[in-house]
Amino acid sequence: MTDPRRLIPRTDAVLADLRLAEALARLGRGRVKAAVGDAQRRVRQGVITPAQVVESALDELTGSGPRRVVNATGVLLHTNLGRAPLSRTAIEAVRAAAGTTDVELDLATGRRGRRGRAAMAALARAVPGAGDVHVVNNNAAALVLAATALAQGREIVVSRGELVEIGDGFRLPDLIVSTGARLREVGTTNRTSVADYAEAIGPDTGFVLKVHPSNYRIEGFAATPDVGELAGLGVPLVADAGSGLLRPDPALPDEPDAATWLAAGADLVTASGDKLLGGPQCGLLLGSAGLIDRLRRHPLARALRVDKLTLAALEATIEGPPPPTTLALHAEPVELLARARTLAVRLADKGLAAEAVASVARVGGGGAPCVELPSAAVALDESLAAVLRLGEPPVLGRVERGRLLLDLRAVAPSDDQVLFDAVVAVCG
Ligand SMILES: *Cc1c(COP(=O)(O)O)cnc(C)c1O
Repeated sequence: MTDPRRLIPRTDAVLADLRLAEALARLGRGRVKAAVGDAQRRVRQGVITPAQVVESALDELTGSGPRRVVNATGVLLHTNLGRAPLSRTAIEAVRAAAGTTDVELDLATGRRGRRGRAAMAALARAVPGAGDVHVVNNNAAALVLAATALAQGREIVVSRGELVEIGDGFRLPDLIVSTGARLREVGTTNRTSVADYAEAIGPDTGFVLKVHPSNYRIEGFAATPDVGELAGLGVPLVADAGSGLLRPDPALPDEPDAATWLAAGADLVTASGDKLLGGPQCGLLLGSAGLIDRLRRHPLARALRVDKLTLAALEATIEGPPPPTTLALHAEPVELLARARTLAVRLADKGLAAEAVASVARVGGGGAPCVELPSAAVALDESLAAVLRLGEPPVLGRVERGRLLLDLRAVAPSDDQVLFDAVVAVCG
């Protein structure tokens, strides 16, 4: 009997297999050759048969790096799916910025310029009420920088109703205390008054912190001062808006925005770039020129600074056409239903039990927790959830009352065909 291990396919023969052509074009010969080498080793070890070499290499190659996923969950900003998808314009800007750029050079004078000044200028233009702006790695970093630069060894006065966990076990109070600032908790979980803050303020106060409840609600016998009421207490007011709207959005009347909070008297507003703003992961700081200057000059600012790719994507998001998140938020339910009907009919033609249904989508990702966005979905058999998740590209839906819903609100209309092809590929 021949030992199968002696029949290990030769590398040249494997690389000539057409199934590897796409991977070769995308990842290059070196990367693919290494995967083939791993597969050949598995044959030698008797883990797979010689006939499985190509598939084994393909498995390894497709498993590498973040993969494109179709978000049919009905959750617009899914942290596990990378939050906001970038607009086409922002993606182009990232591509252009990936080479050598003038990110920190003033071409007019040939001297060092302010890092990312085009992005800063775009942000400042979008919120004229801000004295100055700064951008760091994410909103958590914005809070860390503010706490370190303005309150290290001193107190930050905050309501007990706003000591929040932002997800995956990360808690804002722990984050803030890690900077060496002390938390001075005031009020109760459901009620805090201006007087509670005023009584706690003293010579040791670094600032008052207001945190928007972006992933929870305290309802019933509840009250907490708004930004305007906290602005006149004689110490800086830092307000964490969370979701990143720069201006009010009529679709989300209860969601705070930087322009309104600054006009109401906040000295510094912090927010995420990859939530409702629809841009790259980053932390926005907008506020008084004096405070921003102190943050920017603090040594920690260097450790939290953003990459040129982020700055390019942020500028393009602010100045360019509305990003996918904004379009999804404002999509008309009738149009979503029309798309769901078209898809359901086309899938039924392929022999699948598919039906267009009305559904309810959500903002997610720490924004507008109680807002229900009327939406539409294609309902399929629940058993398809796992196969679709493991398909190419993976499709993530939502299981509801025994059915798999492919909700279209977070799917760009231009991706309906991708969604259709992905479903047909695994179920058709
Ligand atoms: C999301 C959120 C954060 C954390 O922001 P990241 O950009 O993920 O670091 C902090 N505070 C609030 C209120 C949030 O909603």
